[in-house]
Amino acid sequence: MPGNLTFDALKEAVDRGEIDTVLVASVDMQGRLMGKRFHAAFFVNGGWKETHCCNYLLAVDMEMNTVPGYKSAGWEKGYGDYVMKPDLATLRPLPWLPGTALCLADLLDHHTQEEVAVSPRAILKRQVARARAMGFDPMMATELEFYIFENAYEQLRDDGFGNLRPISAYNEDYHIFQTTKEESLMRDVRNHLYKAGIPIENTKGEADSGQHEVNYRYSDALDTADNHVIVKQGVKEIAHLKGKSVTFMAKYDHRKAGSSSHVHQSLWTLDGKPAFYDHDDPHGMSATMKHFLAGQLAHAQEITAFLAPYVNSYKRFCIGLFAPTKAVWSADNRTAGFRICGEHTKAVRVECRIPGSDVNPYLCCAALLAAGLAGIEQKLELEPEMKGDMYNTAGIREIPRTLRDAADRLLASDMLRKAFGDEVVDHYHHAAQWEISETDRVVTDFELQRLLERA
Ligand code: ADP
Repeated sequence: MPGNLTFDALKEAVDRGEIDTVLVASVDMQGRLMGKRFHAAFFVNGGWKETHCCNYLLAVDMEMNTVPGYKSAGWEKGYGDYVMKPDLATLRPLPWLPGTALCLADLLDHHTQEEVAVSPRAILKRQVARARAMGFDPMMATELEFYIFENAYEQLRDDGFGNLRPISAYNEDYHIFQTTKEESLMRDVRNHLYKAGIPIENTKGEADSGQHEVNYRYSDALDTADNHVIVKQGVKEIAHLKGKSVTFMAKYDHRKAGSSSHVHQSLWTLDGKPAFYDHDDPHGMSATMKHFLAGQLAHAQEITAFLAPYVNSYKRFCIGLFAPTKAVWSADNRTAGFRICGEHTKAVRVECRIPGSDVNPYLCCAALLAAGLAGIEQKLELEPEMKGDMYNTAGIREIPRTLRDAADRLLASDMLRKAFGDEVVDHYHHAAQWEISETDRVVTDFELQRLLERA
């Protein structure tokens, strides 16, 4: 069970007065938890069966604007309801919120009771089912990097986001002393999330001032995506409760390192054997792994819009800051978009370094899986390994440099249309177009500073 609280145990905790609130939350297009806070007594006495939400939750932008032009929902359709169907297997306590448990919910069509096609959790479930039908359990891990600021979100907003004070004054990559200074926050992050059923491995300082990383153990792809959104929510909330704030923006300052969400991936047979491992191969990579990786390389540019969903995401892809610029593969090489880890071991895996920490993990894992499975289906041959500094190697496959480029490639992707369906591809292409048009329209601080006086 992905959560760590059975329904019976919840009922007992409610009877004992230990839990009085159950959050029921679905995941939106941006990867946020959206839902309602239930009185626990109502939830256990029948509220667990289903609740409802406005169907605009899968048709708004970050600001909750009602974006025109979606086929799934709009004013012309009256913005009706989706069913929120709690997935009781995801039940867990949230120890940082007194008396509170969380249950994730799937989004169903009100009339057909089918999962909504454009729902991120449904999109990932379908790719996992496809992998299982091919005889594989997809195992994934998403790392999460973020910056911690001394001041609370409210203070940042009051200051017009002009007074961001990272919690440390220097690059704290692997630093024990600096991260000791941050333990009052990060110890709670590890322990609270662990008690919420997240298999925390470790936290560590990262490669700029105030930057951190949290790692949780790999699991099946759906469980990992669930863990990812709960970790993100937990880190934000625990920081908030301590008067601090964090950001998962891919690039909050062009002078600083971006925040990544590298995705580690391996396939296992349904009886639990590592399908990526071949003892006799020079890297320990099986034919299945090579086809999978070949598929991800062949389709890397088409899936990038799901790995880097905002205009800002592309500002992370710059030379010399450990974010990749090239969609090529290399063993244990952090300049490549696809790095092979755990060579010659049963843990041999593909680490895709393209996603930033602003990613929606369901869409990202689903797109990576779709590309990899297409490679296996077509038995694509793996191109030769690249070696050395990919940043300064010309003429090799680039990661799209802008969301505009990535969105065009998404729209034209036959592979994704086949894997996700036209409805899903068109929906998320529309989301990308909206992000682009909103960013094009707005005058930025940069333009003011550069042009106001001198233009
Ligand atoms: P790094 O040096 O990149 O931080 P780690 O050894 O810390 O690498 O592992 C990174 C992530 O990879 C962890 O979250 C771990 O659970 C995950 N991982 C380990 N083995 C596998 C595997 N076989 N498949 C997918 N993910 C895995």
